[in-house]
Amino acid sequence: MRDGDRLRIDLPAAVRAVLAGLTDAGHEAALVGGCVRDLVRGEVPKDWDVTTSATPEAVAERFPGATWQNPFGTVTVRIGSDGDAVEVTTYRSETGYRDRRRPDSVAWGESLTDDLARRDFTINAMAWLPADLAAGDGRLVDPFGGGPDLVSGILRAVGDPDSRFEEDALRLLRAVRFATRFGLHLDEATAAAIRRHAPSAAMLSGERVRDELLRMLAAPPPVGPSSVFELMEELGLLAVVLPEVAVLRGVPQAKAMPGDALDHTLAAVDAIPADRPLLRLAALLHDLGKALTLAHGHFLGHETVGEELARQVAERLRLPRAEALRIGRLVRHHMFAYASAWTDAAVRRFMKRVGVDLLDDLFALRLADNAASGVREPRRGGLAELRRRCTAALGGDPLEAQHVAIDGHRLMAELGLRPGPQVGALLDRLLEAVLDDPALNTEDRLLELARGWLAEGS
Ligand code: ATP
Ligand code: MG
Repeated sequence: MRDGDRLRIDLPAAVRAVLAGLTDAGHEAALVGGCVRDLVRGEVPKDWDVTTSATPEAVAERFPGATWQNPFGTVTVRIGSDGDAVEVTTYRSETGYRDRRRPDSVAWGESLTDDLARRDFTINAMAWLPADLAAGDGRLVDPFGGGPDLVSGILRAVGDPDSRFEEDALRLLRAVRFATRFGLHLDEATAAAIRRHAPSAAMLSGERVRDELLRMLAAPPPVGPSSVFELMEELGLLAVVLPEVAVLRGVPQAKAMPGDALDHTLAAVDAIPADRPLLRLAALLHDLGKALTLAHGHFLGHETVGEELARQVAERLRLPRAEALRIGRLVRHHMFAYASAWTDAAVRRFMKRVGVDLLDDLFALRLADNAASGVREPRRGGLAELRRRCTAALGGDPLEAQHVAIDGHRLMAELGLRPGPQVGALLDRLLEAVLDDPALNTEDRLLELARGWLAEGS
């Protein structure tokens, strides 16, 4: 497929309606970016982006109910009652990325080619200009040779790579994502420019890095995220964006599988399903403590050191606080050592320690960790057995404070206590008691226990 070639496509009705609405009003309108790349590759795009010569005001006027939220002129048009949204962007030629984050100003472009010229990679800088919308007929606009690059398997920056990465350092990471996703080699000049500009990725905002990392981590098979992080390492980006992960290189492992702690980490990430990017992130961070605890010999306490480090990374990436804490907890608990000899009470205490809400993810993480360590599931005393026992306990055993058959108010009323730390301490102790013996979990028996403790003064 090259510049000017005819390309027939199956347009979704909403996209056709947007293109028709604009061209009927005398504007130029084209499909652009990722959707054209996907079409040229013979895939069905998941989002359809339209670019046009019409100003945002003219677009909004043309489509009642269109929303226009930002100063950069992307108008979201909803067509039909089911409200399929199509993003329409006015031709731009951006200038001045002073903070390497957002353009300082946006200049409307004169032409479609102007708009394509400001895009990151040739494969993302193609457009489809309709000729006969009803028939889905049109032609490819590909001034930078994205079509031929796709055929030769090359990811290449549009124009001068150094200037492109200087304008926006996020493109450094996007290059890695697109190259691994489509199995492309980096063009030599593009790769050299990435190496030169890698340090500038440190200036990217946490949010932008987070969004990009989560997209990388969502890489579906056959691309494993390990290939993404290996390429980042090779290009000098891993040490800038995730230095805590990069230092795992060379940290030795005593495992059935060959390789160092970084190889192990990436194998664990690969072993988690692609639709769980946050859990993959937890896997990426699960052994961070190993680089620091190596000095002490056996990675002693690496899960506690690791929890702290993982939380710091998650916070730097501006993950919502709840997610950061959750990742920290997964790291802290990932080393549990189950054996068949555990009593039911020990299983319940484990569940309480970890937190019932975390169990599924913790098992999924440990399964991946085991797979990446060459640890096979034993016939007895394995993960599946522990999971079964936990599921059985979830069927009705008291496991958490809210399951205890008496609450603080009742306890105070019955025992004539005032609010204070004593009440909390009693409730904690009652929970411990019912974890040991669920049969104690009735109000009467709990009151009896508490009365006994108070009488003994213990
Ligand atoms: P995906 O299928 O992953 O969404 P995409 O190519 O659609 O891939 P988006 O991030 O949705 O990627 O961006 C849409 C288009 O906008 C890109 O194809 C590219 O042309 C352009 N683009 C996005 N981000 C940048 C950037 N940082 N610098 C230059 N062009 C960009
Ligand atoms: Mg997209």
